[in-house]
Amino acid sequence: MRRKLIAGNWKMNMFKEDGLNLVRQILSHVEGQKLPFDVLVCPPFTLLSDVCHAVNGKVFVGSQDVSVVSEFGAFTGDVSAKMVADIGAEYAIVGHSERRAGRGDTDAIVQEKAFNTIEAGLIPVICVGETLEEREAGKALDIVSAQVRGSLPKNVNGTVVIAYEPVWAIGTGKIPTLEDVAQMHNTIRAVLTEMLGPDTADQMRILYGGSVKPGNAKELLAVSNVDGALIGGASLKADDFWAIAATQL
Ligand code: PEP
Repeated sequence: MRRKLIAGNWKMNMFKEDGLNLVRQILSHVEGQKLPFDVLVCPPFTLLSDVCHAVNGKVFVGSQDVSVVSEFGAFTGDVSAKMVADIGAEYAIVGHSERRAGRGDTDAIVQEKAFNTIEAGLIPVICVGETLEEREAGKALDIVSAQVRGSLPKNVNGTVVIAYEPVWAIGTGKIPTLEDVAQMHNTIRAVLTEMLGPDTADQMRILYGGSVKPGNAKELLAVSNVDGALIGGASLKADDFWAIAATQL
């Protein structure tokens, strides 16, 4: 039985006090509870260390990216997976569409980042998803299957998380039909099974991301092979983030 993962991607938002307030409000729902799901917050690099200290292991913390390089060196502006692990985080998002489209992350780069993430002892959340043009051309299943094949590293294990995020649903308020979500998640599970065998593939969580809100979370999270949500905009307000999580109580 896969435990659902409710994950917040704060993107490039939050000064220190606002971020710590947000996390304190999330903690107020979590503390003393035995939740039937995992909670993950992914603040910007500037807040990772403070948020790790604030949550004190009560929710998981992840970065929004890692460097493609794993060792120290002259890579100005980069932060390696090992450095993220060193400050106490447990996860790292890799291959978010905003980095694939805006920062040139190819499948090969995402694969390398995911490899380094696992080597550092972190769990990668590997994002995949089609553009609107690709969906309208009937290519969504093929595109996403190819992204999964191209982005999974060879050291993959059952803890690795895939996030299906249709690019056209991110930040737009639009979501796919539940039938389309089911078809995509079932397809991703089939690709994982073909690549890794049923034992590993069955353990891996496949999140849905793209305009998840309190009003649509329950139905999205009830879809076959949807093992959680990656939440952008709605993760910036504790009430909205928790309303989404609370649909799983
Ligand atoms: C995201 O950026 O990962 C995301 C899903 O954003 P939003 O929830 O705002 O669509």
